[in-house]
Formats: sequence, C-alpha cells, structure tokens
Amino acid sequence: MNIHEYQAKQLLREYGAPVSEGVPVTRAEEAKTAASQLDGPLWVVKAQIHAGGRGKGSFKEAQAGEKGGVRLARSVEEAAEEAQKMLGRTLVTHQTGPAGKQVNRIYIEDGSDIERELYLALLVDRGSSRVSFVCSTEGGMDIEQVAANTPDKILSFSVDPASGISGFHGRRVAFALGLQGQQVKQCVALVNTLYRMFIERDMEMLEINPLIVTTDGTLKCLDAKMGFDSNALYRQPAILALRDETEEDPKELAASKFDLNYIALDGEIGCMVNGAGLAMATMDIIKLYGAEPANFLDVGGGATKDKVTEAFKIITSDSNVKGILVNIFGGIMRCDVIAEGVVAAVREVGLQVPLVVRLEGTNVEKGKEIINGSGLDVIAADDLSDAAEKIVKAVKG
Ligand code: ADP
Ligand code: MG
Repeated sequence: MNIHEYQAKQLLREYGAPVSEGVPVTRAEEAKTAASQLDGPLWVVKAQIHAGGRGKGSFKEAQAGEKGGVRLARSVEEAAEEAQKMLGRTLVTHQTGPAGKQVNRIYIEDGSDIERELYLALLVDRGSSRVSFVCSTEGGMDIEQVAANTPDKILSFSVDPASGISGFHGRRVAFALGLQGQQVKQCVALVNTLYRMFIERDMEMLEINPLIVTTDGTLKCLDAKMGFDSNALYRQPAILALRDETEEDPKELAASKFDLNYIALDGEIGCMVNGAGLAMATMDIIKLYGAEPANFLDVGGGATKDKVTEAFKIITSDSNVKGILVNIFGGIMRCDVIAEGVVAAVREVGLQVPLVVRLEGTNVEKGKEIINGSGLDVIAADDLSDAAEKIVKAVKG
C-alpha cells in the first residue's frame, strides 16, 4: 500500500526527520487560508497523487507552456491560484501511464533554497533478504536515467539485521553523498531514523528524492514516497488509516475486500484460477497460444460460492476482457463450489464473452454436472493446454 507525499512527510516529522512545513488542501476555497499559514517568501504547490515524476508531468488539456504538478509561487495569492488550477484535473507522469491520475488534493509547502539535490532510498532487497540503502549524488527528477546511464553514480548496500543500523551506515551514506561537517552528523541521524521507521512501520520502500542540502547547509527531505507491506497492515492500524482508496484500481480494491489475490493486467483473457502457481502457469499458457491475460486471479484454497461469484463479477466488469478461462484444480477447493459460483455469477451479471471451463480434482463430476445442467453456453476443456487453445481460438477466431 502506498501513501501520499503529505502523509509520508507527517510520518517523517513524527520521527524527527527534517521536512518543510506544509498544509494539504482538498477544496479550492481552502487554498488561500492554507497558503497564508506558511511564511513565504517562496511557496511550493504540489499535486498529491500516488505516482512520482509530478514535476516533469503535464496536465491533460494543459495550456501551451503550462507547468506540471509541482509549481513555485511567490505570494499567498499566487500559491492559492496555482492550487486551484490543479485541483480536479488529470496529471500524466511517466509513472501514471497515459490515463493519468486525477488530482484530488494539493500540498502547499514552504519553499526551500536548494544547493544540491541528492537521492536516498531504503527498500527490501529480495536478493539479499535484507533492507538495502540506495543513494546517489544525482538526486532530483531523473534518477531512472542515472540508474540506466551511469550506474556507478549509485551506491547500494544492505544492513545486517543481526547487528542492525549503526553510525557506520550513516557515515557511509554521507561520504557517498559528499557531505561535510555538520551535514555528516545530520546524515547519520537521518539514516538511523529512516531505518527505524522502515522496520517499525513494515515498509517495503521509502524514497527521499530529492534529499537536499539547503543554501544554509542543512539536510532536508523535499519529497517522500512510502510503500508498506500489505500483509503487515493488520498490525499497522495508523498506517492503514492513511489508505486512499481513490488511488487504487477499483477492480483490485473490490478484490481486496473479498480477500481475492487479484492483479489487473492489460490483456484480453480473464482468468479465474485457484493457487498462485496454477494461476501463473495459466497466464503462461495463454501467452504460449498467442493471447495475453487480462488479470492474475487466485481465488485461494477455501473459496466460498460468494467469493467465486464476486471474482467472476470483477473479471466481467473489465471491458478489456474478451473471453474468460476458468481453470480449477480441486484439492481443498471443490470443483462443485466453483461451478456453483460461476453459474450464480453468470445468472446475475450475464455472459457477453466466451467462457471456457476446465475442472479437475475433488468433486469434478459434480462440478461438470452443475455446469452442464445450467444451460449456460460454456465450452468445456479437458486439460490445461486444451483450455488455453479453446479460449484463445474463441477470442481470436
Ligand atoms: P516529483 O518527484 O514527483 O517530480 P518532487 O517533490 O521531487 O516531485 O519535486 C520536484 C522538484 O521540485 C524537486 O526536485 C525540487 O527541485 C522541487 N521542489 C519540490 N519541493 C520543493 C520545495 N519545498 N522547495 C523548493 N523546491 C521544491
Ligand atoms: Mg521527487
């Protein structure tokens, strides 16, 4: 789960990390009062969406020469005006995809005088099974390019969980970032704090880009992106409260409410499968037969009829779906339960696209009877490749 910049900065503030003062705004009428709470002389007006690259992004239907999602202002009035111009519009950045994201909230922040823009991030490194730091002197808006063109400008190291974080790690970051004097001390404290937050709050990713050195020589976190481990949210109620459901794919949101493992993809064949391994194999074989999966969906081991019905509804609500493949290997999950769910869902939402069903395992005969007796226009398949071939043929002709 991701959170907004203004929320991440509030969390940083609570942990004592250096951030600017700022006020979030959701309604145009509030913008002026919000901006006047800050001293100036520089205000920064920032669109709050769950995507980076806002500074270089552009709004849909932008006027010629119009600025992106991060704008400077020199007065309260100008700050309020810029906030009003952005609210409610759609911002497209290299991370949002072409559809962009609607800006429902603006963060008006004290402007900083920037001497240098640096990069500092923490993430879970699956390779080493540890938390890793990533840092670079080339912070700011083009870190992806730095990583691609000059990877030697990026330092990365992991922290041994047995000995934990220490001054050594902070000094290593400070040295790599070319910091001096008091900044080294600040960096050691910051690295400590960030690591502690990361562990205590079950984060997956914490990125400060840019971390700046101000013209008066102090460090500040000017942007903050945080991602949290969804499987740990049950023990992080304060983090869960920061969830912004309007930022999530509505289909994935509905799936999470029913505890379905669902990821939306861009292909044309909707898949309903039990077990993550079988789900992946099903996606692979769809590709092998020349089509693309529209989603990953694992209904899980103990799915009920209601859960299956809901899963089917989510798949059919996707307008990209031109055909559906149900592939169930009944173990704990019984084929008759799946069949009942499919039949119930089709009765409720109708069936506009071809449906191939492959059932195998526990209660398979009962499952087939339910499907066959339902009068639904279902294409039966015998095994995995037969199923994939049939659905691809039904969709592509
Ligand atoms: P994004 O990464 O989404 O483009 P950032 O918050 O990193 O958004 O802002 C982009 C750039 O805008 C920063 O690299 C920095 O140069 C400038 N900027 C952001 N916040 C401030 C601020 N409070 N004061 C001065 N400049 C800022
Ligand atoms: Mg940034």
